[in-house]
Amino acid sequence: MDHFQHIDGALHAEGVPLADIADTVGTPAYVYSTATLTRHYRVLAEALDAQAPLAGRALIAFAVKANSNLSVLATLGRLGAGADTVSEGEIRRALAAGIPADRIIFSGVGKTDAELTFALQTGVRQINVESGPELDRLERVAEATGIRPDIAIRVNPGVGAGGHAKITTGGGGDKFGVPVEEALDLYARAARAGHVRPVGLACHIGSQILDLGPLRDAFAVLADMTRRLRADGHTVRVLDLGGGLGVPYEPGLTPPDPATYAAMVGEAMAGLDVDTLFEPGRLLVANAGVLLARVIHVNVRPDGRRFLVLDAAMNDLMRPALYDAFHPLVPVRDAAGVKGPYDVVGPVCETGDTFARARTLPELLAGDLVVFKGAGAYGASMASEYNSRPLVPEVLVSGDRFAVVRPRPDYDTLLGRESRAPWLAD
Ligand SMILES: *Cc1c(COP(=O)(O)O)cnc(C)c1O
Repeated sequence: MDHFQHIDGALHAEGVPLADIADTVGTPAYVYSTATLTRHYRVLAEALDAQAPLAGRALIAFAVKANSNLSVLATLGRLGAGADTVSEGEIRRALAAGIPADRIIFSGVGKTDAELTFALQTGVRQINVESGPELDRLERVAEATGIRPDIAIRVNPGVGAGGHAKITTGGGGDKFGVPVEEALDLYARAARAGHVRPVGLACHIGSQILDLGPLRDAFAVLADMTRRLRADGHTVRVLDLGGGLGVPYEPGLTPPDPATYAAMVGEAMAGLDVDTLFEPGRLLVANAGVLLARVIHVNVRPDGRRFLVLDAAMNDLMRPALYDAFHPLVPVRDAAGVKGPYDVVGPVCETGDTFARARTLPELLAGDLVVFKGAGAYGASMASEYNSRPLVPEVLVSGDRFAVVRPRPDYDTLLGRESRAPWLAD
């Protein structure tokens, strides 16, 4: 359920016609809906709270990498969300958006000493340790700063899942997390040395997960490890269950709804008496954002193939090029009838700059506006300036208001970040 609807034949974001945003901000541009963000957060929070083992002790830490815009973070933060971060930059973003340090989790497979030091000095809630060498370094940094952080060991439960091989993270061959037996050893080692305080276990097995089975299996592994660690006298009071729940990008995809997911989690956590952490990214923001673009022209080849050339490109929305991802393409002006199929492409000089092949669409002409739906997650946050295309702007809508929350840089700004080396200056 989202708040992008046609009203009187014109696509709106909540109460704002997308054509008005295009007139003001230009295209391409990301447009986010506050009402959709709010709804997605609340539905999940309420579903978790309805489960007795989770009620009042679940923190939803939004995975900042899915959408790191400060206004998106602030919107979620005000609803009570924390932040799951994977770099110093993301910690700084979460703080700048008003999310308190005690709701920030620091994850990631390659945290540098400088980043760990920053996280300790900031007082983040928890650091998820992803390997033995990382634990060694964190212990050294903790000793040097005299700050003893709460940590969780990120377990690789040997269960992979997700919509694409490039977004599976819990399989035995993936680079994420520590295998079960080694994780138990690390936990004991960390407790013994005393520089850090092991408080729990974490896992995150993949992204765009459409089937609860692998998640259930992974949570059973964590529950079993919790019992084993406690039997050895260790404290385990937090289980971080990661993110990964899929969203319905295309008709026919039926990811589990939050209530079904929460019921499964409730069952998996029953009797464990733990605080739970959740790290959803996509689930909260994917359908809360669209990429608004304009048709540059339609190129009809002699063989009849029709290329719809947009002013948005792979540098603005990388998912189709990177993961063969599907995004619905919707005309802003409600158009009747079917023309097509179209190959939908951007202007970047790569064959990979193809959003869709043979997509059936209404007739579209140069100058028409379209949106890619489901673009709120891993859209703007992955965008680049490849081909020296200025970074795509971001707009947040709330009711009948909108605000540019990241402007499109002008060309002076784009070029001004660089300089010629002294020996190349004339
Ligand atoms: C990417 C990531 C998430 C969020 O994944 P989604 O599929 O967007 O929910 C959560 N936790 C960790 C550790 C991640 O790397």
